[in-house]
Amino acid sequence: MVEFPAAATSSESVFVFWSAVVFVFGAVVGSFLNVCIHRMPRELSIVRPGSHCTHCGKPLRWYHNIPLLSWLALRGRCAFCGAAISPTYFIVELLNAGLWLALWLKFGPSPQLAAYALLVSLFLVGMFVDLEHYILPDEVTLGGTVAGVIFCAVFPLMQDATDWTTGLLRSVVGLAAGGGVLYAVRWFGNLLFGRKVHDFEKGVSLVLDQARLRLDDGEEKPEEEAVKDVLTSKHDRIQFQATSGRVGEQNLAGLIVRITGADLTVGGQRWTLGEAPRLEAVAHKIELPRDAMGLGDVKLMMAIGAFFGWASVLFTLVLSSLLGSIVGLLLIAFRAHQWGRPIPYGPYIVAASFVWIFFGTDLTQWCLNFPIR
Ligand SMILES: [Zn+2]
Repeated sequence: MVEFPAAATSSESVFVFWSAVVFVFGAVVGSFLNVCIHRMPRELSIVRPGSHCTHCGKPLRWYHNIPLLSWLALRGRCAFCGAAISPTYFIVELLNAGLWLALWLKFGPSPQLAAYALLVSLFLVGMFVDLEHYILPDEVTLGGTVAGVIFCAVFPLMQDATDWTTGLLRSVVGLAAGGGVLYAVRWFGNLLFGRKVHDFEKGVSLVLDQARLRLDDGEEKPEEEAVKDVLTSKHDRIQFQATSGRVGEQNLAGLIVRITGADLTVGGQRWTLGEAPRLEAVAHKIELPRDAMGLGDVKLMMAIGAFFGWASVLFTLVLSSLLGSIVGLLLIAFRAHQWGRPIPYGPYIVAASFVWIFFGTDLTQWCLNFPIR
């Protein structure tokens, strides 16, 4: 690493020592990130209880808990019950350690190192939670946004500024650009692709009561949700022809049912949601609203804008959609994925933002210097 300034003044062995420290510390933090990834979406405490096998519940001994090494030594199995431990644990530890080392090699001891190490770790949590649960926790997205604004105000250099007001201003402009652009993309996406008819061979049962909705397709565990959380915009609706069921005392068979955020229409009859009688229906084809993009993705892009400014937003948007299309098409080509199932977008945004951290400045310079004749 010729560019690294400290390497020239201190001896090479000291540099290697600190590189190893950064890597090991990154792996230890990666181990904690695994706890967050597992527990945050389940709304469990990230502090208590201590690490334990998720299969047999036995608390781990300290030597079962050594980042990277324990998973390899145990060959990915619990020492007590032999249950498989997901390779995700190993991958997250390795990614966090590797990325922290790469940040250290690129930025050396600097505010950027601290800021980007925090961001990378937060985003890894977001990436792996989104892959499994299709949600991005606010701790990651809004937490990242707040951290970005604070870092840029305290270290204006991060936004190529010399005073804190400019650093803060550029961070806020980036935040607004990230949120605004993605919100617009989401709005148009929903307008164009926001409705989809789902086919359920075995039928889907639907219960609407007290403005709360429960869908059960017999596959995933049904969850009851408030209608206003499912139908968020006024264009959103759920519509189907009931195979059987009732609304109040009335038989539903063959009738068209439409639910919006405000009311319920059955045949020609209409109620506001608050006054509607209990509805229980079975249907085989049902039109559901579909979010082209979650609000979590919008908030994630706010965090990126807050850390890196508005140019990073455009770069991340283009690269992530490119990555997403390529991977999506590959998955479909290899039949690993079905059309219409949600594909989480967060991981692609995260991956694109990592590319920006390491190559963004060079890429911008290259674009600005690109000879146009
Ligand atoms: Zn076990």
